[in-house]
Amino acid sequence: MSYSIDLSGRVAFITGASSGLGAQFARTLACAGAAVVLAARRIDQLKDLRARIEGEGGDAHVIGLDVTDLASIRAAVAHAETEVGSIDILVNNAGVSTTQRLQDVTEDDFDYVFATNVKGAFFVAQEVAKRMLARAKGAAPGTFTGGRIINIASMAGLKVLAQIGPYAMSKAAVVQMTKAMALEWGRFEINVNAICPGYIDTEINHLHWQTEQGQKLINMLPRKRVGKPEDLDALLVLLASSESHFINGAVIAADDGFGV
Ligand code: NAD
Repeated sequence: MSYSIDLSGRVAFITGASSGLGAQFARTLACAGAAVVLAARRIDQLKDLRARIEGEGGDAHVIGLDVTDLASIRAAVAHAETEVGSIDILVNNAGVSTTQRLQDVTEDDFDYVFATNVKGAFFVAQEVAKRMLARAKGAAPGTFTGGRIINIASMAGLKVLAQIGPYAMSKAAVVQMTKAMALEWGRFEINVNAICPGYIDTEINHLHWQTEQGQKLINMLPRKRVGKPEDLDALLVLLASSESHFINGAVIAADDGFGV
């Protein structure tokens, strides 16, 4: 006996797919059978990723997206649905961070983080959900196959960490956003859940792990290690699948025990 999850016939839209977790999420969903829409600002990197996914036998499409620009969000989602098909799965992954003490945070730092992590994530989900809702309400009973929205929050949204105050505040907003969306959209078979990753080695922090401070931090972690992007694969595929229909509004830590 074995257990497998198949996303064939599904369309997944991944924001911030040009690097790090987003790129890995796209490869993983493609590997599970979904057609993936790679949405971000750095088109050249998205094209390289598309070639890699196609080389692995997957179906990938490139679309420009700046999540801080509402017109760009609307255009990207419309473009994706015209070119690839109705979006079944949204991975709301684009995110940014800044590092400084609270007393040094400028208005620009604050706006930069909140415009992407909170306002951007909200309006991407809203744009996708409007279309899912229209299908859910218009569909003959039993024909809407359900929507899945996976918000990428952070352990910093649950546990405050020094020198990344605005980032932690923004990810706490993503946690509440997830629950608000789950509450209002769940009855239309749109499940909204959040993943709170712990420290994962990606472009955003790779150099930090080589420094003395980075090594010190690793030594303070429960298992003295940081994760790899693929460590989130199983959880991602589960939340993207129809098998997770009973999971809605969950905020799931994937942090190697850091938050306990
Ligand atoms: P990353 O910097 O490699 O990825 C972030 C992606 O978001 C990049 O591709 C970037 O281009 C994109 N992006 C930023 N602003 C954008 C905008 N305005 N429009 C479109 N795309 C934009 O870092 P990552 O580690 O892969 O982070 C991915 C997500 O995971 C983020 O939301 C981050 O907060 C979260 N996260 C990461 C970690 C970690 O340790 N790496 C831990 C917890 C949460």
